[in-house]
Amino acid sequence: MPQRPKLVLVGQLSTLPWVFDAAGRAGIDLILVPRGDDSAEAAARAGGVVEVLPLDIDGDPEAALSTLADRYRREPFAGVMAGNEKVVPFVARAARELGLPGLSEDAAAVVRDKRSMRRRLRDAGLGAPGFTVVDDPDAWTGALTLRFPVVVKPASGFSSLGVIRVDDKDSLEQAVARTWQLVDTHLAPGGGSAENAGVLVEEYLDGPEISAESLVFQGQVRVCAISWKGELTGPYFEETTLRAPAQLPAEILAAIEAEVIGAHHAFGVTEGTTHTELRLVGGVRPVLLEMGARIGGGGFMHHLVHGSSGIDLAAEALRIHVGRQPVCWSEEPVPAGHVAAYLVPVGKGGRINRVRGLDAVRTDPQVDYVVQTVGPGALLRSYPDWSGYPAIVLSRHESDAAAVAYRDHLARTLHVEYEEQG
Ligand code: ADP
Ligand code: CA
Repeated sequence: MPQRPKLVLVGQLSTLPWVFDAAGRAGIDLILVPRGDDSAEAAARAGGVVEVLPLDIDGDPEAALSTLADRYRREPFAGVMAGNEKVVPFVARAARELGLPGLSEDAAAVVRDKRSMRRRLRDAGLGAPGFTVVDDPDAWTGALTLRFPVVVKPASGFSSLGVIRVDDKDSLEQAVARTWQLVDTHLAPGGGSAENAGVLVEEYLDGPEISAESLVFQGQVRVCAISWKGELTGPYFEETTLRAPAQLPAEILAAIEAEVIGAHHAFGVTEGTTHTELRLVGGVRPVLLEMGARIGGGGFMHHLVHGSSGIDLAAEALRIHVGRQPVCWSEEPVPAGHVAAYLVPVGKGGRINRVRGLDAVRTDPQVDYVVQTVGPGALLRSYPDWSGYPAIVLSRHESDAAAVAYRDHLARTLHVEYEEQG
């Protein structure tokens, strides 16, 4: 019998189970490179993991790459896959150097930089808002010619950290300064990593938000599921809810697919899996916000796709990264049902004590997963700053209306309880 292929999974947090659970279904063994904030014991215990390979990708990428290459020479593995947004360029470089399937380094750099994504979309004639790049905190006046409201955001951010809506020109300077300060603190400390510095100002896209999860194999894109995120009007953009499948007319779903496929081509994304966020301007016209070349939400987007479309997104992603054709390329999946994700809002922030109401949720038959990634005593900062999701609840429903009702129930019953200020 042929040996099970091994895949190096880089920076997938071991407390988020979806990709680990998929390894068994795909018949692939995992060599886990733990994320910096993961614990060695938890990493070793995670599903499908046969080996743990610590690498200091942030601190010394050259040494990390040569350790990975040494490991490959000792016993070749079949693939390497990114488990979080930050490691996408490192993984692309490793794949190229070892001759494994993956993104080109150019495509990896494009999807890590919102400035590059905006330019590529514009050049390809795809939808894009007016935008201005601000390379220096004092150079914000260039954005005054945009149509207001605008959105100020880090060029290489995540999780809506430092993303601020600005309604009038008088408030722009202050918002750029605030975003710049958050970039300095969290994304490019001391201006050290120049490619992560920089701020983007773009015109506000007025309409509900959606997300599209795709697989890409040898340049062919399949949009697997479209999820509804709803109205997020700012001034800060904390995500709290997603539902799949999005209840939209066929012609709008087709327009979304066309836009998402076009964006893959514009960015040069030819291999792997992606998480694309869009706004439906005026409720009808899809315009891309951004694309991540990884499974969205630390992996939980897998569950929305699997539960709604029947496509085993995480297992398919693992297959693609070891060079195998995804199963859904040859076998049509059977659409499954309605799935929802609820991210408990951070609220005022502080040192977290517990999430009140969560025990009842854990035993609810509609609930598939409850995941807490921050323990008691952890410091959570309120938006536009960000430091983690208090808890994620994934549930399954008979209809979209039932999913909405359950979301409302969770919003009423789940609250983060913070330690008293002393
Ligand atoms: P991040 O990488 O931090 O998630 P995004 O570009 O996705 O950055 O922005 C975060 C959120 O801010 C989006 O999900 C969206 O709700 C809002 N947002 C960002 N840009 C715009 C825009 N041009 N128009 C409307 N909303 C926006
Ligand atoms: Ca985003």
